[in-house]
Amino acid sequence: MQGKEPCLSSYGGALMIHITLGPMRYVSPKEDQLGRDHVGWDPNMDDEALFRANRGCWVLGERADREQFALLSAQGVVRQAIEIDRLVAVPGGRRAIEGRFLEAGHPVHDAYVGKPQPVEPTRNPVTYFESPHAARECGCGCGAPVTLGWFLPGHDQKALHDRVARIGTVREFIDWFDRVYTDGERAMASRILSIAPHANAKDTCSAHGVAARCTPLVADVVLSDAGSERVEWAVCARWTRENPDAVAWLEGHPDAAALLNAS
Ligand SMILES: [Zn+2]
Ligand SMILES: [Zn+2]
Repeated sequence: MQGKEPCLSSYGGALMIHITLGPMRYVSPKEDQLGRDHVGWDPNMDDEALFRANRGCWVLGERADREQFALLSAQGVVRQAIEIDRLVAVPGGRRAIEGRFLEAGHPVHDAYVGKPQPVEPTRNPVTYFESPHAARECGCGCGAPVTLGWFLPGHDQKALHDRVARIGTVREFIDWFDRVYTDGERAMASRILSIAPHANAKDTCSAHGVAARCTPLVADVVLSDAGSERVEWAVCARWTRENPDAVAWLEGHPDAAALLNAS
């Protein structure tokens, strides 16, 4: 019965990943790719411990990327059902599951956990099996069940373009995205709380610095910096025209913009 695997090209149903766990054993956190000190199953492990000990490191081929659920079994009984967000590579070529264990009440949990494992024991710990519970709802929100991947064919494009259309044209969407998307340094970027005609005590442009000698200062800006701290600025007219965050804020606050223009 070696190599008996469903042929994907002719396969119409949905598959789940089934992983057979051995008894709990200790490993060296220094050598383990996930830094664990034990792997496997032990009756005393709670769900969290079981998930952490066994979400990797498995030989998961390309086909595994399509699956949304995995079962962990030990001693012939399903011990845990996992909803997969993604599979991540670990050093050495194996992969680990990112996701969450399911709790009672979830149909996949209730169909399998605590029951005999749904696959014949094999030497390979990772197998795939056909499951009527493997479908997820299409990610576009149409409600259709999807048995492979995240979307019905074409629905990913529809979902994406629906979102583009809510912003405007593709060009407007890209401008908006680049303005709003925060990573690395931009995550530090301040968030504007208000822009009002200049009245505070500052006499140099907070945006361009003393050396820029911006005059006149036209606006006071209140920012929340990286979370909580409230920061007050005074800025020149150039900043209110050129800074993308300022432009976006003033577009969204026409009353404040009018006040600024009137001053
Ligand atoms: Zn859909
Ligand atoms: Zn300035």
